[in-house]
Amino acid sequence: MGQVLWTITGRLQVEENEINGSGQPIRRALAGVEVEVMASNFGTYASWGTARTNADGYFTLRNEKDQSKRKFKLKARFADGELEINTGVLANPGDFFSPAIEVFEHDHEVEGPQINIGTRCFEEGAGGELGDRDTRRRAIAWYVGKTLIKALTDHDPYFAFDGKIKVIYPANVVSGQCYANGVTRSVYIHAAGAVNQWNVQVLLHEISHIWNYDHNHGTANWFGAVFCPPDLDTHAQVERRPIAFHEGFAQFASYELLHELWGDETDSTREKRHPYTRYALFNTLKLHTLEELEQSDHGVERALYLLTSQALYTRKFGDRHTRLQSDPYPMKVSTPSLDCPEPPRLTIWDVLKVFQANPGAGWPTEWQVGNNDYGVRRFFERAADVLGGLDERTKDLLLNLIDPNSSEEPQSRCKPNGVKRSGVGLAPVEK
Ligand SMILES: [Zn+2]
Repeated sequence: MGQVLWTITGRLQVEENEINGSGQPIRRALAGVEVEVMASNFGTYASWGTARTNADGYFTLRNEKDQSKRKFKLKARFADGELEINTGVLANPGDFFSPAIEVFEHDHEVEGPQINIGTRCFEEGAGGELGDRDTRRRAIAWYVGKTLIKALTDHDPYFAFDGKIKVIYPANVVSGQCYANGVTRSVYIHAAGAVNQWNVQVLLHEISHIWNYDHNHGTANWFGAVFCPPDLDTHAQVERRPIAFHEGFAQFASYELLHELWGDETDSTREKRHPYTRYALFNTLKLHTLEELEQSDHGVERALYLLTSQALYTRKFGDRHTRLQSDPYPMKVSTPSLDCPEPPRLTIWDVLKVFQANPGAGWPTEWQVGNNDYGVRRFFERAADVLGGLDERTKDLLLNLIDPNSSEEPQSRCKPNGVKRSGVGLAPVEK
């Protein structure tokens, strides 16, 4: 029988409703997925090789074979050179692999040589493995991981990870907590029995730890020193400065990335998170000094939101004694009678840049994640030295704004512009 060129095409998507927080189902293209095509005639399947989905989730595989009718079966794996989504092996805790997931099978032999299997979507209610809850979550983890890796490298080659990262879900972690292991370069999402910690924000928190391991100087052996999420009170109120920084940074980065990458979508609830008032720092977080703030996960997280706050001079932070109407967030104030400096308008991408060594600015090494001298105050100082958008005076103001014992307001840096007004108006902060 003569040979013909068979062409097998299709598309892979995942439908999810959790990434942008809206609860609305959204279909996402699955890019970079390995698709294996298997063909059968006379009842036995043989592999025709693999293809990869493109940025829109489409794949094509061509193969020269005879014209006889065949059945096709297609399997997908969430694995490539930069990311792998794994599952645990029940019989061997500690062993993980990236399963081949069946996404299509003919129920009878069909004529070729053009085979289009259409769109196969991982979604609730789909038959077979496409509808399996944990498989759908692994598809979401793949989409989130690939989107993040691309965004990082598109912004700056320095932001790339140092190697492949892995996500293991479900992972039965001995401590009962999700964590990131810098040696295996794996994120473990704990799920065992009735406990299931799957959550997109937690996933990004843990991946941020791996990013931090890859962009640090001096600490190489990150053997799961850090457990998460911090909301579960795994850390003491007062802990070593670099651990608090590491945790606070991971929490900050997870929310900033959700906002940056998915905050513009219709009905997204991934809004920018805000810094705290001094009253909230002192009374809610119980941070009585800047020293204590540096040693608190939550304190560091709120301090970092100040660094990327897009509205500095129209906010009032109050003092530790007086609860503002907008508490725990700073209050919006109207400032038409004042000439204020330009706010720094830093973004998460600027914050990530602070980790890079910059000998010319007096910082010859990358951020030293494990060094006890490296806390959030030092991070602000380093940011002012390496980022063009943050000057010394503004940095000093930011340090005062995270000091529970200060009472300086951003408006103190503004000058009257001669416009007559009866007073500074107050309105609740925009959230
Ligand atoms: Zn953590």
